[in-house]
This record gives sequence, structure tokens and C-alpha cells, in this order.
Amino acid sequence: MARKATSRKQPARGAATRQQQVERFQRRLLLLLLAVIAVIGLATWAGGQRSQAERWLGDWLNMPGATSAASGRRIGIVVGHKDFDSGAICEDGLSEGATVAKIAERVADRLRRLGAEVDLLSEYDDRLNGYQADALVSIHADSCIDRSGYKAARSDTSVIPDVEDRLLGCLMQSYSESTGLDFDSNSITVDMTEYHAFKRVASQTPAAIIEVGFLGGDAGIIVRQPDLPARGIANGIVCFLEEQTQ
Ligand SMILES: [Zn+2]
Repeated sequence: MARKATSRKQPARGAATRQQQVERFQRRLLLLLLAVIAVIGLATWAGGQRSQAERWLGDWLNMPGATSAASGRRIGIVVGHKDFDSGAICEDGLSEGATVAKIAERVADRLRRLGAEVDLLSEYDDRLNGYQADALVSIHADSCIDRSGYKAARSDTSVIPDVEDRLLGCLMQSYSESTGLDFDSNSITVDMTEYHAFKRVASQTPAAIIEVGFLGGDAGIIVRQPDLPARGIANGIVCFLEEQTQ
């Protein structure tokens, strides 16, 4: 009896042990699974954090001394065509006015974060008459054709040509760096060099106009990645302010 009972119990104990082993294995598997999920979650979170930090750091490194150069300075940004018309309109409904407004707002945000006082101005803003600022940049875009390139110009009757050439130089360098677009010197027109706002602002206000690219050939950058042209323009203005303070 005792032997029988023992022999009967042994397989039972064996089964119980196997059952425990299976349960232990399942628990470990579950823990492992939870750990994997936690690691994936952490990596995703850290990845998100890192890309934010990298972006911030990238901007900061791009503009050494930027905070002090822009701090307390007054900058005018003309939002091309604002409160007047929509500028060029492409077949798919894309408009120049909407495109440059997004860029201009981002330029203003960037400069304000660096401590600048930024006026976002309409195309024919009353404030442009005798406007005094450390810099004024008017933002426009080119037509819907399948062509690529940006351009920038100052008044051809400037009384401060050297200063405005420095503004242009900074804008061009920073804009090329940020967007990768080429400067298109062949298509600068009198619409740019005799731009109406150049005649209205105070003669000592350094002013420039930039055509950020073509709504057709450059849509991938100026429409779909407005932060790139915005960074180029903001960095260009900061570069100019830095040179002015040296
Ligand atoms: Zn325009």
C-alpha cells in the first residue's frame, strides 16, 4: 500500500513539478515580454526626446552668440502679399501668399525666441512709411513653374549699399546652407530691385527682399518643409546683426 501510494504519489509530484516549471517558464516569458515592451517604449520615447533636443541643439549651434546679437533688436518681416492679394496661385490651389505666410511666421518665432522685437508686416502695411528697424526682410516666392532656385536683392538706389550687401551676403549664405537651394541670379527683376517697400522704409533701415524658391520646382522644400527656409532667413538676419555689432 505504502509503496503503491508512494509510486502513485511520485508521478503526481513529478507532474506537479512539471506544472510548476511550466508556470515558472510562462512567468519568465511574460516578464521577458514586458521587458521587451518596456525597452521598445523607452527607446521610442528617448528617440523622440533626442530628436527634439538635437533639433534645439542644432539650431543653437548654428547660431553662436545669436541670443546676444538679436536680443532687443527690431526686425521687420514683410509677409509677401498679405492683406493685398494671394500672389501666384498654382493649378492645385497652392498660393504664394499662404506659402510665405507659414515661412514668415516661423522666421518671427525664431527671432523672438532669440529676444528680438519682430513686426510681421502686410505687403502695403502703413507702418512701412519711414519704418525704422535693424533689418527688414520681405518674403516672397516664385511662380508655379518647374524650376528651382531662390534669389535675394536690395534696392538699386540704396544709400547704405555696403550695409545692405552684408545683409544680402548673410541671407544668401544661411539660406543656401539651410535649404540646399541654389541662388538664381539670372532672374532678378526690377520688381525686386525697385520693390515698393524699399522706397517707403527709413533710408537707414537695411532692407532686402527674398524670393524663397519656386512654388513649382521647390515645393518639396518651401511648401512641405517651411522650417528650412525659415531657419535660413532667421539665421541670415542673425548673422547680419552679429556683423553689425562687431
Ligand atoms: Zn510675390
